[in-house]
Amino acid sequence: MTQRQRTAVVAVGGNSLITDEFHQAIPDQYEAAVATVKRVVDMMELGWNIVLTHGSGPQVGYILRRSELAIEEVAPVPMDYADADIQGAVGYMFQRAFHNEFVKRGLPGHAIAIVSQVLVGQEDPAFVNPTKPIGPQLDETTAKARAAELDWIVKEDAGRGWRRVVPSPVPKKILELEQIKLLANNGFVVIACGGGGIPVIENEKRYLVGVEAVVDKDLASSLLAIDLAADVFIITTGVDRVAINYGAPNQEWLDSLELNRARELYDTNHFDPGSMGPKVLAMINYLESGGAKGIITSPDNLIEALDDKSGTVFFRANS
Ligand code: ADP
Ligand code: MG
Repeated sequence: MTQRQRTAVVAVGGNSLITDEFHQAIPDQYEAAVATVKRVVDMMELGWNIVLTHGSGPQVGYILRRSELAIEEVAPVPMDYADADIQGAVGYMFQRAFHNEFVKRGLPGHAIAIVSQVLVGQEDPAFVNPTKPIGPQLDETTAKARAAELDWIVKEDAGRGWRRVVPSPVPKKILELEQIKLLANNGFVVIACGGGGIPVIENEKRYLVGVEAVVDKDLASSLLAIDLAADVFIITTGVDRVAINYGAPNQEWLDSLELNRARELYDTNHFDPGSMGPKVLAMINYLESGGAKGIITSPDNLIEALDDKSGTVFFRANS
């Protein structure tokens, strides 16, 4: 595929691959990936070069749960390896979905998923204050019973039930950035930083060591959008827009959000730290680092949102 002018980083929510509680199986997640990929390939046909990232909250939780249930027979999966498993499995889903969509449309594209590590701080406060929800939504009784039995920490998740939460340290550096750049600059659709990337720390010898955490894919994706100087940074998720006073009687859906206002709302803890919070922070980070335009929307509205006809558009007042 020829080199394209404009680059978009598109971050796909792990929760948005699970359309509802009856569609949690892997073939259902593949269908959701296909639906998203169709819209992304529409973007490519409009001339966009795509770097796609994806979340993994539910999926990583499923892997860890399988590991817990099988503990009598097989050795447990450490969390960094669960992150890597997900990059492979969801990366494969997207790679295949892109391939099939290219074949269907007679396009010459090539997609490639990259195992991506991100550097985090050993002293990150997240290690003592877990906020990242993983796995399925549970009822309060089951969640609390598992917390007692398995040493989990559980929290109520954005009005959707109870979930296990794990540490989510801030990503400081994408270690495979050069590889991602090389491929993206040569027209490949790159699938990178899956599940936020595998969190690693550097030891005293500067060797990498994996850690038990799940990096927020929104923050890793904004870092990637900044590093790639992406022309647009899009997060697709389970809602069409960001709301203020979410879930309250005075809830209000936003068409756009100016950077200073976004910062003010974020700093006053207006957004839930396990769901919308990191997305808004990701947009703030991207714009504050010179990014041109950020969008939060659902996969279905991707094309409309690029034309400011859907989604919440994040912008700088003076741009
Ligand atoms: P993803 O897997 O895409 O990262 P999350 O579940 O982490 O999705 O976060 C997106 C979800 O957060 C939305 O689908 C919605 O249910 C919830 N949510 C929480 N706060 C808000 C808000 N202020 N505006 C809109 N949605 C919100
Ligand atoms: Mg999330």
